[in-house]
Amino acid sequence: MGSYADFYRRSIEAPEAFWAEQARLIDWHRPPEQILDASRPPFARWFVGGQTNLCHNAVDRHLAQRAQQPALIAVSTETGAERTWSFRELHADVQAAAASLLALGVGRGDRVLIYMPMVGEAIVAMLACARIGAIHCVVFGGFASGSLASRIEDAEPRVVVSADAGSRGGKVIAYKPLLDEAIRLSRHKPAAVVLVDRGLAPMDREAGRDHLWAELMVRHQGAQVPCTWLEATDVSYTIYTSGTTGKPKGVQRDVGGYAVALAASMKHIFDGRAGETYFSTSDIGWVVGHSYIVYGPLIAGMATLCYEGLPTQGLDRQPDGGIWWQLVEKYRVSVMFSAPTAVRVLKKQDPALLKKYDLSSLRALFLAGEPLDEPTARWISDGLGVPIIDNYWQTESGWPILTLARGVEPQQPTRFGSPGVPMYGYRVKILHEATGEELTEPGQKGVLAIEGPTPPGFMQTVWRDDARFVDTYWKSVPGRSVYSTFDWGIRDAEGYYYILGRTDDVINVAGHRLGTREIEECIASHANVAEVAVVGVADALKGQVAMAFVVPRSGAAATDADAARALEGEILQLVSARLGALARPARVHCVTGLPKTRSGKLLRRAIQAVCERRDPGDLTTLDDPGTLQQVRALLGA
Ligand code: ATP
Ligand code: MG
Repeated sequence: MGSYADFYRRSIEAPEAFWAEQARLIDWHRPPEQILDASRPPFARWFVGGQTNLCHNAVDRHLAQRAQQPALIAVSTETGAERTWSFRELHADVQAAAASLLALGVGRGDRVLIYMPMVGEAIVAMLACARIGAIHCVVFGGFASGSLASRIEDAEPRVVVSADAGSRGGKVIAYKPLLDEAIRLSRHKPAAVVLVDRGLAPMDREAGRDHLWAELMVRHQGAQVPCTWLEATDVSYTIYTSGTTGKPKGVQRDVGGYAVALAASMKHIFDGRAGETYFSTSDIGWVVGHSYIVYGPLIAGMATLCYEGLPTQGLDRQPDGGIWWQLVEKYRVSVMFSAPTAVRVLKKQDPALLKKYDLSSLRALFLAGEPLDEPTARWISDGLGVPIIDNYWQTESGWPILTLARGVEPQQPTRFGSPGVPMYGYRVKILHEATGEELTEPGQKGVLAIEGPTPPGFMQTVWRDDARFVDTYWKSVPGRSVYSTFDWGIRDAEGYYYILGRTDDVINVAGHRLGTREIEECIASHANVAEVAVVGVADALKGQVAMAFVVPRSGAAATDADAARALEGEILQLVSARLGALARPARVHCVTGLPKTRSGKLLRRAIQAVCERRDPGDLTTLDDPGTLQQVRALLGA
């Protein structure tokens, strides 16, 4: 095969031939009759007429060759639990769970809402749904009752699968009371609730409605539940976006297109091989968890490591900033996937921890979810001695839009600050925000958009709301029917793309448009800055001014006013020198932590609202309310 450029070109010029070939990476019960039906844009239907099943491809298919091989490894540094399921054991447990769901009246197309911590049973539950054609809706564990209630109402699940509790940094969070309250708040009531009892928190059980997972699994032990053959275009699951910019949207995904997209990405992008171990530090509550903790690695015949806990605590529950690398050594992890926010946490640890373990199995570390700043990328790349592959995508896309395809030879070099090039199947465009005109010259900044038809694995629609799908995503660039990512981007002369922030993250200072992202990059290059957020704040004179919040890496700046002022002075000077006086923040405040979503993304809109003394809006995805309190206190708001 030629270069990646040839590979990409073929996917764009002959998409049906290209994807027909990729479709051979999975098992079909009935092969597709039509590769792509794009007759009703912007809806794209892939592999029409084909029948398959995600669980079959993730589990059953591997029994012939790798029944005894590890499939699922669940490690919790919260409880000290560590357990491995072989493909055969996983197959047995998934069937028992599927039989349990069937016994509770769950049928094809019914929804099952999964509200669980990162335990192996959560993955078993997801696979059991896939097996019988039930649609799973995984809601991030630890979301409070309000956000859970709105998702229960939207999904109308027949059954909810949950647990007594999750745990984070040694703090037990009882899920059951939150779930009971959510069900009370919701107009829709599930017929049954299944509970994994980890022995972490007491549970009140409602007679007739609540069941114990362990009891059901014993009752259905040894059950044989064949996979239900689903249409490729049936719904596999719904998942909500992070809600960084507003009310989360229920993203709906298909069966066949998703299976093919994941199988192809495991081969061409992640270069993950059957028999190896994949370790994604994400959570099943996010899209990364769906694609690269559960389905992607298993479809590829890899073992997947499911991790509960902070990156800084060991199995003995003592502080240990080297736990992830210890696991890489122990389970011979070959591909790892994490987020820049997690690496920034590790950056505060002793760098010697990166050298303590044998990491020779590891080929690459993939990072996604937010911009990867250069100092963070260099730090982890130097420390691990493996390539750091930034990848840019969204809940909506299901798999990377921009990155480097590690499995296509010759491998393209990484470039700091850029997630890479468009992945096969994606017609990525940079468009003028006002005219919709395509910006083809290198270095021109515009809205990053995707021209239809979107590739397999991409969202089908918004759950039960085609109009919202079309109106939200496909009508935002004037004069064109393209999918807007709502991110700014540019492309350099070699075709590498750069993400310059979200389209609502631009500020206007005295008539000049500035990306908060650029100011953040500049501030992050200061040696004593661990994390930074910059927001635009309304200003009577200039329209808007930049306001910076900085987490110092060390020293007294977070607590001592004089030290904070000294750091502020240095940062202001740095920004003036690099970006000019216009970009100089009005203030640089030192804080101990930044307001983030539970997925680790900065909640700039909440900081901005507090700065402008507005109601910060929907805070259900906010991780630590203390961080926003600190911002309030600093501003006297
Ligand atoms: P909502 O859409 O509800 O506001 P969200 O956009 O944060 O929430 P996700 O789908 O989890 O929800 O995140 C996708 C977004 O994350 C992208 O649109 C982009 O802004 C950002 N992002 C993801 N990966 C990268 C990356 N590698 N570099 C820069 N930004 C990234
Ligand atoms: Mg988004």
